[in-house]
Amino acid sequence: MRAVARTAAANATRATSESVFQSRAAAALSTASSSLNLDFDVIVVGGGHAGTEAAAAAARRGARTALVTPNPTKTIGEMSCNPSIGGLGKGTLVREVDALDGLMARAADGGGIQFRMLNSSKGPAVRGARAQMDREYYKAEIQRLVSAVSGLEIVDAAVVDLDVSQGDQSGRGVIRSVLLDDGRKLSTKAVVITTGTFLNGVLHIGDERVTAGRLANDTTEKADVKAGKAAHSLAKTLYGVGFQMDRMKTGTPPRLDGKTIDWEACVPQPGDKSPVPFAFRASSVPVGAPTWKPPITQIMCHSTYTTPETEKFLMAAPKSKYELDDDAPTTPRYCPSIESKVKRFPGRNHRVWLEPEGLNTDIVYPNGITNNLNVDLQSQMIRTIPGLERAVILRPGYGVEYDYVDPRELRITLETKRIKGLFLAGQINGTTGYEEAAAQGVIAGANAASVDGEEFIVPRYSSYVGVLVDDLTSRGTSEPYRMFSSRVEYRLSIRSDNADLRLTEL
Ligand code: FAD
Repeated sequence: MRAVARTAAANATRATSESVFQSRAAAALSTASSSLNLDFDVIVVGGGHAGTEAAAAAARRGARTALVTPNPTKTIGEMSCNPSIGGLGKGTLVREVDALDGLMARAADGGGIQFRMLNSSKGPAVRGARAQMDREYYKAEIQRLVSAVSGLEIVDAAVVDLDVSQGDQSGRGVIRSVLLDDGRKLSTKAVVITTGTFLNGVLHIGDERVTAGRLANDTTEKADVKAGKAAHSLAKTLYGVGFQMDRMKTGTPPRLDGKTIDWEACVPQPGDKSPVPFAFRASSVPVGAPTWKPPITQIMCHSTYTTPETEKFLMAAPKSKYELDDDAPTTPRYCPSIESKVKRFPGRNHRVWLEPEGLNTDIVYPNGITNNLNVDLQSQMIRTIPGLERAVILRPGYGVEYDYVDPRELRITLETKRIKGLFLAGQINGTTGYEEAAAQGVIAGANAASVDGEEFIVPRYSSYVGVLVDDLTSRGTSEPYRMFSSRVEYRLSIRSDNADLRLTEL
């Protein structure tokens, strides 16, 4: 009972957007490829959630900006894990990114197929907008928005090294250029590295190990190998500079074939009757010129629960080499595997959300059963869950471990203390989540655009973004940092419904 949502016209608009992006991206690529030495004000490394916002923010401030990422039409705007945007705390970050003229909210409004306001029965301070995305539509929306930013070029390559000069009077090195994997050198005054889980990334699919930052979401492909290799070499450079670095891990559940799920045995979870968009401009444009329409019919999500059999199975299941590895980073508290949940909370049935990954696919994301089991055991485990007794796994769940840089290496502008002009944003700073990455991208990009000029600082007392950046740079983090309203001292006045009043003037 998967409800279908969009009209043919809406789908046709998206198809056009995609081809518009592809031709514009191709034009940008041909410019970049035809020159031997290119000079930019800002170079952003990586086209994920932090990278796209950083590049757009730098270009909005007037900097000639290059977004360097391999295979741009496939990877720009890619969601490595769950195709959803927002949630408690995170929804406010999305609205703040929008208030600062970022891309994420507009892309989420365009790519959303089910919208819900979480905690809607509680006060406005703890409400969180969340929307399920069509993975491909979201990506197309981000690509369309990125390609429309003037002064921004997309370069199809990976960065393998940084060129840093000996140092200014204070002894700090100064960034000069980046080296691409095709041998080209791009000179610049500022670099923003946003390589996510790719720095020395290792995937663990049960006992199998793959050197990469993530598996490609297209189930026919394996990992994003080119970026993975380049990021290993970039990691060496960062260690060479002397940055304090450590390892973290996260994981993702298996993807299921929706045709093999018994939907009647699960509980339907509809979207809101009156969906609320993320973007402020969507609701503030003059009457008669709407920029946003909710999906005609939203898709239905479902939920089910693990059972005592699931717990019994997991407690008895042989551990994969990864789980037995004492040197592996500790399990993240905010994205725990199902094995760690049954161990920490025995006797409970854990909720599993069944979330369709899009309108034109049968792939379903079972939110809540991230695991590190061997592949055959993953199939056996899901059979203990009502509705999934005959479910077929299209792609196994896996764990990923990667290097991150201690964010206390950074100033509040997200520039590194050791190298002038070098900024870091996103998962590389020890955070987890698309929204946390996007918010840092805006701050890093805006500051990279004015390395010798006015700093762009968003204070802690006025925003979630300010809290995020302040927490990271002053306290650091030893586990993947996630945004929560409980981290925000002034959460009664810093709300998602007033992000524009707090930040847009800035
Ligand atoms: P990414 O979105 O990873 O983007 C990094 C980009 O850098 C990629 O486009 C890559 O191609 C590019 N790149 C890498 N190296 C180079 C190079 N040398 N040169 C040029 N480009 C390069 N978050 C949650 O909130 N909850 C979860 O449950 C969750 N689970 C996850 C599970 C997995 C397996 C993974 C991989 C991630 C998970 N995340 C989860 C995290 C979420 O995906 C990230 O927090 C978010 O994508 C980080 O954004 P980013 O921009 O920092 O990096």
